[in-house]
Order: sequence, then structure tokens, then C-alpha cells
Amino acid sequence: MQLIDGKATAKAIKEEIKIEVDKLVQAGHRAPHLAAILVGHDGGSETYVAYKIKDCEEVGFRSSLIRFENDVKEEVLLAKIRELNNDPELDGFIVQLPLPEHIKEPEVIEAINPAKDVDGFHPVNVGRTVIGLPSFVSATPFGIIELLKRYQIETSGLHCVVVGRSNIVGRPMSILMSQKSINATVTVAHSRTGNLEELCASADILIAALGAPGFIKENMVKEGAVVIDVGTTRVPSSETKSGFRLKGDVIFDEVAPKCSFITPVPGGVGPMTRVSLLSNTLLAAKGNIYQ
Ligand code: NAP
Repeated sequence: MQLIDGKATAKAIKEEIKIEVDKLVQAGHRAPHLAAILVGHDGGSETYVAYKIKDCEEVGFRSSLIRFENDVKEEVLLAKIRELNNDPELDGFIVQLPLPEHIKEPEVIEAINPAKDVDGFHPVNVGRTVIGLPSFVSATPFGIIELLKRYQIETSGLHCVVVGRSNIVGRPMSILMSQKSINATVTVAHSRTGNLEELCASADILIAALGAPGFIKENMVKEGAVVIDVGTTRVPSSETKSGFRLKGDVIFDEVAPKCSFITPVPGGVGPMTRVSLLSNTLLAAKGNIYQ
């Protein structure tokens, strides 16, 4: 069994990005610039945005944080998005989700200029991903594909089961795994899938993205399978200062001995999600997706 070290891979990618940023700046360009819009004071969202800003600093990007209170009117948020869409000093921006209930998330996402949509959530980017055109791919699936590539994991002709069909993880993951560059044969499973145990046990590559801690057990994994655990659920823990720890969708200790490759939680997919936002911002700054 080989452990897929997302933390070390993400660190290596950050170093590569930093080298590219230094080259851009030395050539007289400004540093890539990412902005984040944060609405309200949700603890999780505050933490994620703080990480994103810290990541930007580490690779030499400029970053901006734009805050609104929880009761911000939708038209005020949309006006800010239009302003950022037209700001030549800004390469990409994200609107941290979830948004308060009175704001319609799809309208906010569709208001973002696809060329600056570094989260890859805009329907134009999703559609371009589906038909294999250059696009911003949402960060978690992007990071998982990068792990498969960097660990030179065989995918062609293999059966990949993706458990979960959310717009940000499961669905784009399944699309990417079926692309000609990857060539897996993909099954997407969800909460209504009948024969989930047998289906998972038939997978050469099992991608668990359901958010149910410890759901994938030893009997659901084929000998020699590649297992990617996307799940990160905060569970109470007496062993950490915070009183919580992250638990994956896979029972690691049971499943790992059967695997050819497996990602741990934490230290697997999570760091790759973070670094993929930086990769997308660099692509935006270089005009690699939309000329
Ligand atoms: P989500 O929007 O809640 O989607 C979960 C998906 O799993 C849904 O499609 C749901 O099916 C399916 N599902 C739930 N319970 C199931 C069950 N018992 N059997 C089969 N399918 C089941 O979640 P998400 O945003 O995709 O995130 C999934 C997990 O990944 C969460 O733990 C999240 O925290 C984690 N995550 C981690 C990262 C990272 O960087 N590591 C990034 C994003 C998300 P239905 O469609 O039928 O409801």
C-alpha cells in the first residue's frame, strides 16, 4: 500500500507556483491577484477564507478580502461582483459559500465573469469542463486529478466509482474521470443507489465524497483498489486542542491494507483543494483559459 501524501504534493506545487510568480514579476508583470468575498461571520467560512489569504501570501500573490454583513442585500453583492468583473487589477475572485438564505446562490455564481471564476462554479466553466475545453475546474476534483497524475496512477480502462454527486465534488469528479485524458469507466453513486456495497467493491478506483464519516468499510473495497477519501467531517475529539478532529468517509485502518494507493484524512485531498485555487488563479493571471 502506498500513502498518497497530499500535504507534501501541495507543498511542492506551491513551490512551483512561487517560481512562476517570481518569473512573472521579474518580467515586469504585476503579481497574480485573488479576491475573496465573505458574507457574514460563519466560523467555517472565516477559517477557509483566512487559509486562502495565507496561501496567497506564501506564493507571492496579492489578495483582497471584501466583507459584507449577513443582512447584505443581494443587489449590493451583485453590484460588487460586477465591479470585480471589470477590475483590470484583479485576476480572479471567489464568493465564499454558503451564502445567507435570502441570497440566491445560483444568481450570484452566474454573475461572476467566467474568466475570473477561479472556483470553477459558473455554468460556463462547468460546461466547458464537460466538453473538454480549457476551463477553471473546481478545486477539489482538480486537486484529485493532480494527485492521480503525480503518483502516476493507472486510470485507463479502469472502473471508477464516485460516491456523491454534488456540483462541487462528485459530479465534476465523475466528468473528469471519464475524459479522454483519464479514460476511466465511471459510475456515479448517491443516496438512492441500491447496490452500493457491491458497486464500491467492484471499483478499481473508489472516490468517496459523501460526507458520512467511516461509511466505507473493508468489505466495500476491492483488493488492490485506489481509494480517494474526500470526506472531511468534524467529529468531537479529546485528543486535540480544538476539541474536534477531521474524519474521512473511509475507515482508514481497515481499508488501507487492501489498497494499492490511499489518501489519508487529514493530509490527503484537503491540502490539494487549497493549492488548486492558487493554480486556477495563476492560470487566470496568465490568461491560459480565456485569452
Ligand atoms: P454534499 O453536497 O452533501 O453531497 C454529498 C453527496 O453524497 C450527495 O450526492 C449525496 O447523495 C451523497 N450521499 C450522502 N450520503 C450518502 C449515502 N449514505 N450513500 C450514498 N451517497 C450518499 O457534500 P459535498 O460538498 O460533495 O462534500 C462531500 C464531503 O467531502 C463532505 O465531507 C465535505 O466536507 C468533503 N469535502 C472535502 C473537501 C476537501 O478539500 N477535502 C472539499 C469539499 C468537500 P444525494 O445527492 O442523493 O443527496
